[in-house]
Amino acid sequence: MHSKQDPCCHPGLMHPDQAIPKLLDQVQPTRDTEIVPLSHAMGRILAEDLASMLDLPPFDNSSMDGYAFRLADLQHSNTLKLAGYSFAGHPYEGQYLPGSCVRIMTGAPVPECYDTVQMQEKTQADGELITIEAPDAIGANVRERGEELKAGDKVLTKGTRIGAAEMGVLATIGQSQVRVYRKLTVAFFSTGDELRPVGTELAPGQIYDSNRYSILGLLQKADVDWLDLGVIADDPEAIRAAFKEASANADMVLTSGGVSVGDADYTKQILDEEGEITFWKMAIKPGKPFAFGKLGNAVFCGLPGNPVSSMVTFYKIVMPLLQKMQGLPAQPVLSLKATLTNPIRKHPGRVEYQRAILSRNDAGELQVCTTGSQGSGMLTSMSLANSFIVLPQMQGDTPAGSVVDVEPFTDVLN
Ligand code: AMP
Ligand code: MG
Repeated sequence: MHSKQDPCCHPGLMHPDQAIPKLLDQVQPTRDTEIVPLSHAMGRILAEDLASMLDLPPFDNSSMDGYAFRLADLQHSNTLKLAGYSFAGHPYEGQYLPGSCVRIMTGAPVPECYDTVQMQEKTQADGELITIEAPDAIGANVRERGEELKAGDKVLTKGTRIGAAEMGVLATIGQSQVRVYRKLTVAFFSTGDELRPVGTELAPGQIYDSNRYSILGLLQKADVDWLDLGVIADDPEAIRAAFKEASANADMVLTSGGVSVGDADYTKQILDEEGEITFWKMAIKPGKPFAFGKLGNAVFCGLPGNPVSSMVTFYKIVMPLLQKMQGLPAQPVLSLKATLTNPIRKHPGRVEYQRAILSRNDAGELQVCTTGSQGSGMLTSMSLANSFIVLPQMQGDTPAGSVVDVEPFTDVLN
């Protein structure tokens, strides 16, 4: 909470740095795991530490196309006799003959009797006589068995989200399947009599329900299963029925709209009756109102209705909650310093997430400008942006030329 000395704080507003850890304390990681084939592991979260069963690479192999030989043999002559071939997947199986070499390709096993590879561009071939020009040091161009990992070394840690690189790493160590945490299910719906689903005509006073689609996009980024319950009218019984269906079938119930002070907003009233919900007023802009609690066995998050507010609160609050529930450790936020190129008007009191474009100026330094009008209903400001400028709670007007904190949109928001 804010100290009494902060004259411009709205009473009851909580700084997100205080509120978010309190919210995170109230959710637990799932313990349920399942085994999935590697081909279906993308985006999933590892439920166990994995060690390599193999040395990596599993055998000494060449990093170049060229000739493998024993460096000491060059003491007698730089010209060696070709004894055979080692191709990728087809090792040389002959005996060692003093003064010999084998033709070798990238990735092919380096025969045990040899210790060095010379790239072919630095050799001369005359029939079966190969001259090594300006040889490198012993071991040159040989990728040694176990140089990346030894059998038994830990490769991936429990709680790692499997991305493209991890897919490859898992295959490298021969893992055809992998134990991951169960996928969470998030049920979501929009509330508001003014909202119409896309594909229908708008009557006067109506708008399309956009939040359900930005939320759907965010849920897909979060790699959860979802249950889309559509638009629910501002009608107490319809909202009650939707909450019941959602909480019976999901780990998290997510709604947008109806958490601020509004005449036709029944959400609060019904949540009070059906679950244990707290209405948080967070010192962030956009996004002040946020409802959180338990609805049956499900976690409930009520996002504000304004389209930018709902995305920002999802990004700052719901995403970390989902990540914890999925079994991920706390994810660091990438924050950079950049020079602001346009002035920003701001009242002290809330942390502001201004939608922004981060780039480099001609001198190669990071610069950032806002995307223009920052109304919390203007979703195009999110679409134009590649980052947030984050202005601290007590910051006021910020002139061009100021150095500001910028959080680039990660994969989560793009
Ligand atoms: P509320 O939080 O319900 O008071 O809504 C705040 C503002 O966001 C109002 O202008 C609503 O029309 C708008 N709004 C609420 N839900 C949505 C939605 N799902 N899609 C687009 N706009 C919405
Ligand atoms: Mg509403």
